[in-house]
Formats: sequence, C-alpha cells, structure tokens
Amino acid sequence: MPFTHTVGRLTVIALQDAEGPFPDPRQECFPGATAAQWAEADALDPAARGSGGEWWLRFRSYAIRAGDGPVTLVDAGIGPEGSLAADWAPVPGHLPDELAAAGIAPSEVSAIVLTHLHNDHMGWAVPRDSPFTHARVIVQQADFDAYRANRDQAGQYDLLIEPLWAQGRLQVLDGDHDLSPGLRVLSTPGHTPGHQTVLVEDGDDSLLVTGDLLVHAIQLLHPELAYASDVDPERARASRRKALAEAGGRGTTLAISHLGTAFRELPLG
Ligand SMILES: [Zn+2]
Repeated sequence: MPFTHTVGRLTVIALQDAEGPFPDPRQECFPGATAAQWAEADALDPAARGSGGEWWLRFRSYAIRAGDGPVTLVDAGIGPEGSLAADWAPVPGHLPDELAAAGIAPSEVSAIVLTHLHNDHMGWAVPRDSPFTHARVIVQQADFDAYRANRDQAGQYDLLIEPLWAQGRLQVLDGDHDLSPGLRVLSTPGHTPGHQTVLVEDGDDSLLVTGDLLVHAIQLLHPELAYASDVDPERARASRRKALAEAGGRGTTLAISHLGTAFRELPLG
C-alpha cells in the first residue's frame, strides 16, 4: 500500500515504481565521500544499502491531489519491460499497480511533471508505454533544448518529445511556475540543465518533491557532495544547498525519489 503525506488540504502519495541496485559501486557515484560520511548516511537511511554494500535505489513517483480532484504526478518511473531505462534499471516498473492501489485511475492524472529528462524518471510518460493518454507533460526549456541537441540519445527524443509535441501534450516552462493552487514548480538546475522540483504548500505546511536534486542520504547530510551523474556539479551543489536551506528553515518535508524512505522530515533527527 502506498505511503501518503498530508500538506493542508493536499495529499501526496508515494508510488514506488521499482527498486534495485545501482550498476556502479556507490563510492564512484559520490567520489568525495569519506568512510565516516557513508557510515552516517547508512545510519540515517539503512534501506539504501544493499546486503553486498551496493547502493540500493527506489524509483518513486509522487501523486498529488486536493480531495478527489485531478492528480498531478511528479516523475514517471522506469517504465515497463523494454522501456528506455531497460538497459540499466530493474524493469518492469509497477507504477500502474501502485496507482490502482492508491485508488487512482490513469484518466484522473491530468499533469505529469518530469523533474528532468533522464530515463528513470520518464518511463510511464513515454506515449508508446503510457496509460496516461491525456495528461499534459511538463518539462523545463533548458532540458528540452539539451535533449533536442542530443537527438541521437537512443531514440529518446523520437519516443518521448516528438509524440507528446504532436499530441499537443507537451508543456515547456522556463523557470519557476505556479501549476495550480498550492503547487509550484521551482527551477533547480545542475543535475541536468533544466532540472526542476515541485513545492507543495498549504498554509504553514509544505513539502518538496526533489527529483534528483539529491539522490542519497549522504547528500542530505552533506549537500556539498556531488553526484557523479550531475551534468554541472557546481550548479547542482548551489541548487541543493539553497533548496535544503529553505526547506530546513520552514520545516518542509522532503520527498526524494531514490531514497530508502518516501518522506523525510527536517530537521534530521
Ligand atoms: Zn534518477
């Protein structure tokens, strides 16, 4: 059964598409991390360490809705067998089953925010594989541009961007943007040129769906640590520090796709 978190009148539901080991040794993913920092991170998020010491990731999406209103999905997982992430991620994902368990029909999903255009975050948004046939799909201009410049990336442009564009379902944003009452997209570049996060707020309650602004508890404890897959580590570090400082300042709950647990309260305890 999916985990839920309430933000005022909004409900945020964590949907685990899949879990599995990262293909590279975790020390290579965070080259600057010390043994003491790893020990700290393992104590904070033990479920992210596999039995052989490997990085064990969850691949989560988050569904957000007010009451039984339309659903906004943040990220779309690794997708089914044969998806764009299939050469490294533990496909098939189970997002449609998780949604059903949460009582959400695919037709209720009106928008999908892709935090960035990596293939472990877009799986079920690819029209060929997607049950969400009329959801608009929201990306940042800088990711769209970077993607267009790399059209040769295993056909991803042809399978994701072009069909969505042709169907009139692609919404390209440039920077921060209010999506609906209590839902705001924030530009957080670095992991990719157009990485974005989603801030959920109602009154004093707030929650940030982080995408890959941070990907492991070691970066929650030590935001200065770069992730080897960050396109621009300096920008990613600046975005991460700023977002975590703001979240810490107002007690914002964090919803982090790849962590062992779906929701993290601040301050860390
Ligand atoms: Zn990711």
